[in-house]
Amino acid sequence: MSTPIKPLVAGNWKMNGLATQVTEFAALVDGYSGMEDKVDCMICPPATLIAALANFSQESTIEIGGQNCHASATGAHTGDISAEMLSDAGATSVIVGHSERRADHGETSEDVNRCARAAWRAGLVSIICIGETAEQRKQGITLDIIGEQLLGSVPDDATSSNCVIAYEPVWAIGTGLTPTAQDVADVHSSIRQSLVRRFGDEGQQMRLLYGGSVKPANAAELMGVIDVDGALVGGASLKAADLLGILNAYE
Ligand code: PEP
Repeated sequence: MSTPIKPLVAGNWKMNGLATQVTEFAALVDGYSGMEDKVDCMICPPATLIAALANFSQESTIEIGGQNCHASATGAHTGDISAEMLSDAGATSVIVGHSERRADHGETSEDVNRCARAAWRAGLVSIICIGETAEQRKQGITLDIIGEQLLGSVPDDATSSNCVIAYEPVWAIGTGLTPTAQDVADVHSSIRQSLVRRFGDEGQQMRLLYGGSVKPANAAELMGVIDVDGALVGGASLKAADLLGILNAYE
């Protein structure tokens, strides 16, 4: 019998947020107080705000994550950031393989696999993103694409403690469009089955997040789908009130 998975709602601020955004984080810390037993919460701010938020979050159980990391620990990689640096600044997790990284920086599943292992080297949890494009969905190859990305991006030594999977259909990110609950259920069930085939009990216990235009208005329906263990939230994580509205799906 597997133990119930505690859900996680993680906010991805992307390239948004100056020092003034810390006031939204403060409001989130306040509003989240009392929800800790039901749902975990994380914010992945731009790297410039990790230390400030990590410092602030000492008063709370809200975790701080990075949005990406380089595969190496140090070196001549101008503009990049290593998992060790994220950890040093106070992050406990890092998103890897976000579709915006795959599209903007040509990151392949092989690259993502290396970044996930770099995260573990530094003691961080890796949040590995996978998802099909609109064209791939139209062609009816969503589950094939998801299967390939899962196999390529998730390293062999993934466990339920060091790895979270985020299913994010590319066409749903930042568009206001979402798959139907049935579509999400089909993909998450397929992800769960592949993880169990590959990792046994660890695959059964791994958190599977849904991401793509999650908002307070659709959170309860999407979070209620079997094998959805939380959300990765972009736009709606920038305002504390919106993220709290999503967290409320678990009240
Ligand atoms: C994301 O970028 O991970 C995301 C899910 O964005 P949004 O919620 O804005 O669609």
